Amino acid sequence: MLNLDQILKTHWGHKKFRLQQKEIIESLLAGRDTVAILPTGSGKSLCYQLPALISKGVCLVVSPLIALMKDQVEQLHNKNIPAAALYSGLSHEESKEVYRNALDEDIKLLYVSPERLQSERFLRFLTNATISFIAVDEAHCIAQWGHDFRPAYLNIKDIKYELPNKPILALTATATPKVEEEIVERLELKSPKIFRGSFMRKELSLKVNQVENKETSLVAILKKRNRSAIVYCRSRRACKELSLLLNQENIKSTYYHAGLSKDERDTAQKSWLQNELTVIVSTNAFGMGIDKADVGLVLHYDLPESLEAYYQEVGRAGRDGKLSEGIVLYNSRSIARQNEMASLKFPSEHELRKLYTNVCNYLKIPTGGGAEEYFDFDLLSFVKATNYNTLTALHGMQLLSKQKVWSLSDSVYVPMRVQIVASREELNHIAHNYHRQDKLLKQLLRMYNGIWQYSVPINEYDIASKIKTSIEVINEDLRFLASRSYIKLVAKKDKPQLYFTDNRYPAEQIVLNYKEIERHKIHEQNRLAAMQKFVLNKSQCRMQLLAEYFGQQEHNPCGVCDIDNPAMVQINFASVKKLVDEALTHKESESFENIIGHLQGEERIQTMQLIRKMISEGLYQISSFGEVSKA
Ligand SMILES: [Zn+2]
Repeated sequence: MLNLDQILKTHWGHKKFRLQQKEIIESLLAGRDTVAILPTGSGKSLCYQLPALISKGVCLVVSPLIALMKDQVEQLHNKNIPAAALYSGLSHEESKEVYRNALDEDIKLLYVSPERLQSERFLRFLTNATISFIAVDEAHCIAQWGHDFRPAYLNIKDIKYELPNKPILALTATATPKVEEEIVERLELKSPKIFRGSFMRKELSLKVNQVENKETSLVAILKKRNRSAIVYCRSRRACKELSLLLNQENIKSTYYHAGLSKDERDTAQKSWLQNELTVIVSTNAFGMGIDKADVGLVLHYDLPESLEAYYQEVGRAGRDGKLSEGIVLYNSRSIARQNEMASLKFPSEHELRKLYTNVCNYLKIPTGGGAEEYFDFDLLSFVKATNYNTLTALHGMQLLSKQKVWSLSDSVYVPMRVQIVASREELNHIAHNYHRQDKLLKQLLRMYNGIWQYSVPINEYDIASKIKTSIEVINEDLRFLASRSYIKLVAKKDKPQLYFTDNRYPAEQIVLNYKEIERHKIHEQNRLAAMQKFVLNKSQCRMQLLAEYFGQQEHNPCGVCDIDNPAMVQINFASVKKLVDEALTHKESESFENIIGHLQGEERIQTMQLIRKMISEGLYQISSFGEVSKA
């Protein structure tokens, strides 16, 4: 028997396994399907990386995000563990090398996106490769009623048929008992061993602050802390505006959302990771795979949309074990606003059918056409052209994609496709007049069965190497043949894509399972209700409440949340004086409410009392309008 502790020490430099890691690894090494539900920051990836290292063959890791994969591969290289990732941005040569290395077992782990599992090339690879086991990261993405459903995760069970008897390890940080059930069912796990880590995080102090003015409170909170922080807010515009506001207040910050270019996102992320600035204001697009130890505060400027999302996001604080905070801000309008936004998520059946027609018209798809085709689809241009509300359109598109009317993806690479439509006479004509193009056509016929009947994806690199010419020449010749209607050519793409599973039908004929949509809606409402209960809760330890939601019993309160310990933040003369002085740095006077606006509960009361005392002692004065100034 291998000595696991020794391997842990050699490659990871740790002396001891953390809770349950060893049991999970042993279950997997014994060939058992295993589910590990462990909170963020408890060393999940080690549970498959270590067994991968000591097993024969290559471990397949299914992972939802390219950034996450790249990150992991880099970290493994730093530990001298050979690994690689297959994702859509790789060049043909690069992915060829990855496949070769995997076949030769020169790597121990191969990260793949769930979409990739369906590709023919990948399936061909599987039949020739030696696979040790399959690890499914962020396994909750498979749950249709979960908060992060990724339809491509449903493909995972298909590769199981190619790999009988290989155990699966499903990992996630958040799974309610219902999601756990779905994971087991949809991955078709055989009597799996299930591990659940404790949800309690004693170094994370959870707080919910009801405030008058969220902006003022945000500034005050951040000024007081001066620790690395993430501020989550809902809209892209708010990210930018809040970051601007913070910078005006001398709090160094940047912002991040999915609408920025890759370079902009990389720069923002890097400057925050390297502590060149303190705060990153971001949508929920930010954070997955981020492992920054010294995050002292995660602040939700808008109410999180579910407790799953909240727990995942707030879990990014305090990884270094130092006491950290998660603060949710809300005001009297927050809950009503959240309900309003949620109602937009479920357009009526009529509206969905109308959206379908509008999208087809916008993409100029004729009735009876469009099946199995990819279309460039930029939501914002669509919204502009059709006067849709962005959110209504987005949610409607997503619902139709869950109903398999189409599939909507972020930028994916779609290869060039060709169909030969020339007649025999035309082929003869080409053979006599265009020698170079003729050679290309004959090569296409040799390489791709069915190219007469339908358009097939082609690989211009393979063709070029077969007929010993350059890609440029191939492309030029393909364009030439297409311009004369000898072939049909669909250019390759790397824009967001809308893929039509079927031809366009009259809108009233598309099959919609509205009962299922109704069920989604109910799940969504339940999630929202749980989130709001958490926010309005004034009596139960917040960690206990979270654990309960995730189906766990925690007998002892955490002791550090705002319910267990309202005076978590030290209130004393010096801290309160500092608070008032800071509010008066750039201003002659400031309203009492603005000074203490971000505080609540016991902390608020004590602070108010202390300021009153300072006023009565003549340290500050207060006007009849409630404006505090220096005496
Ligand atoms: Zn607590």
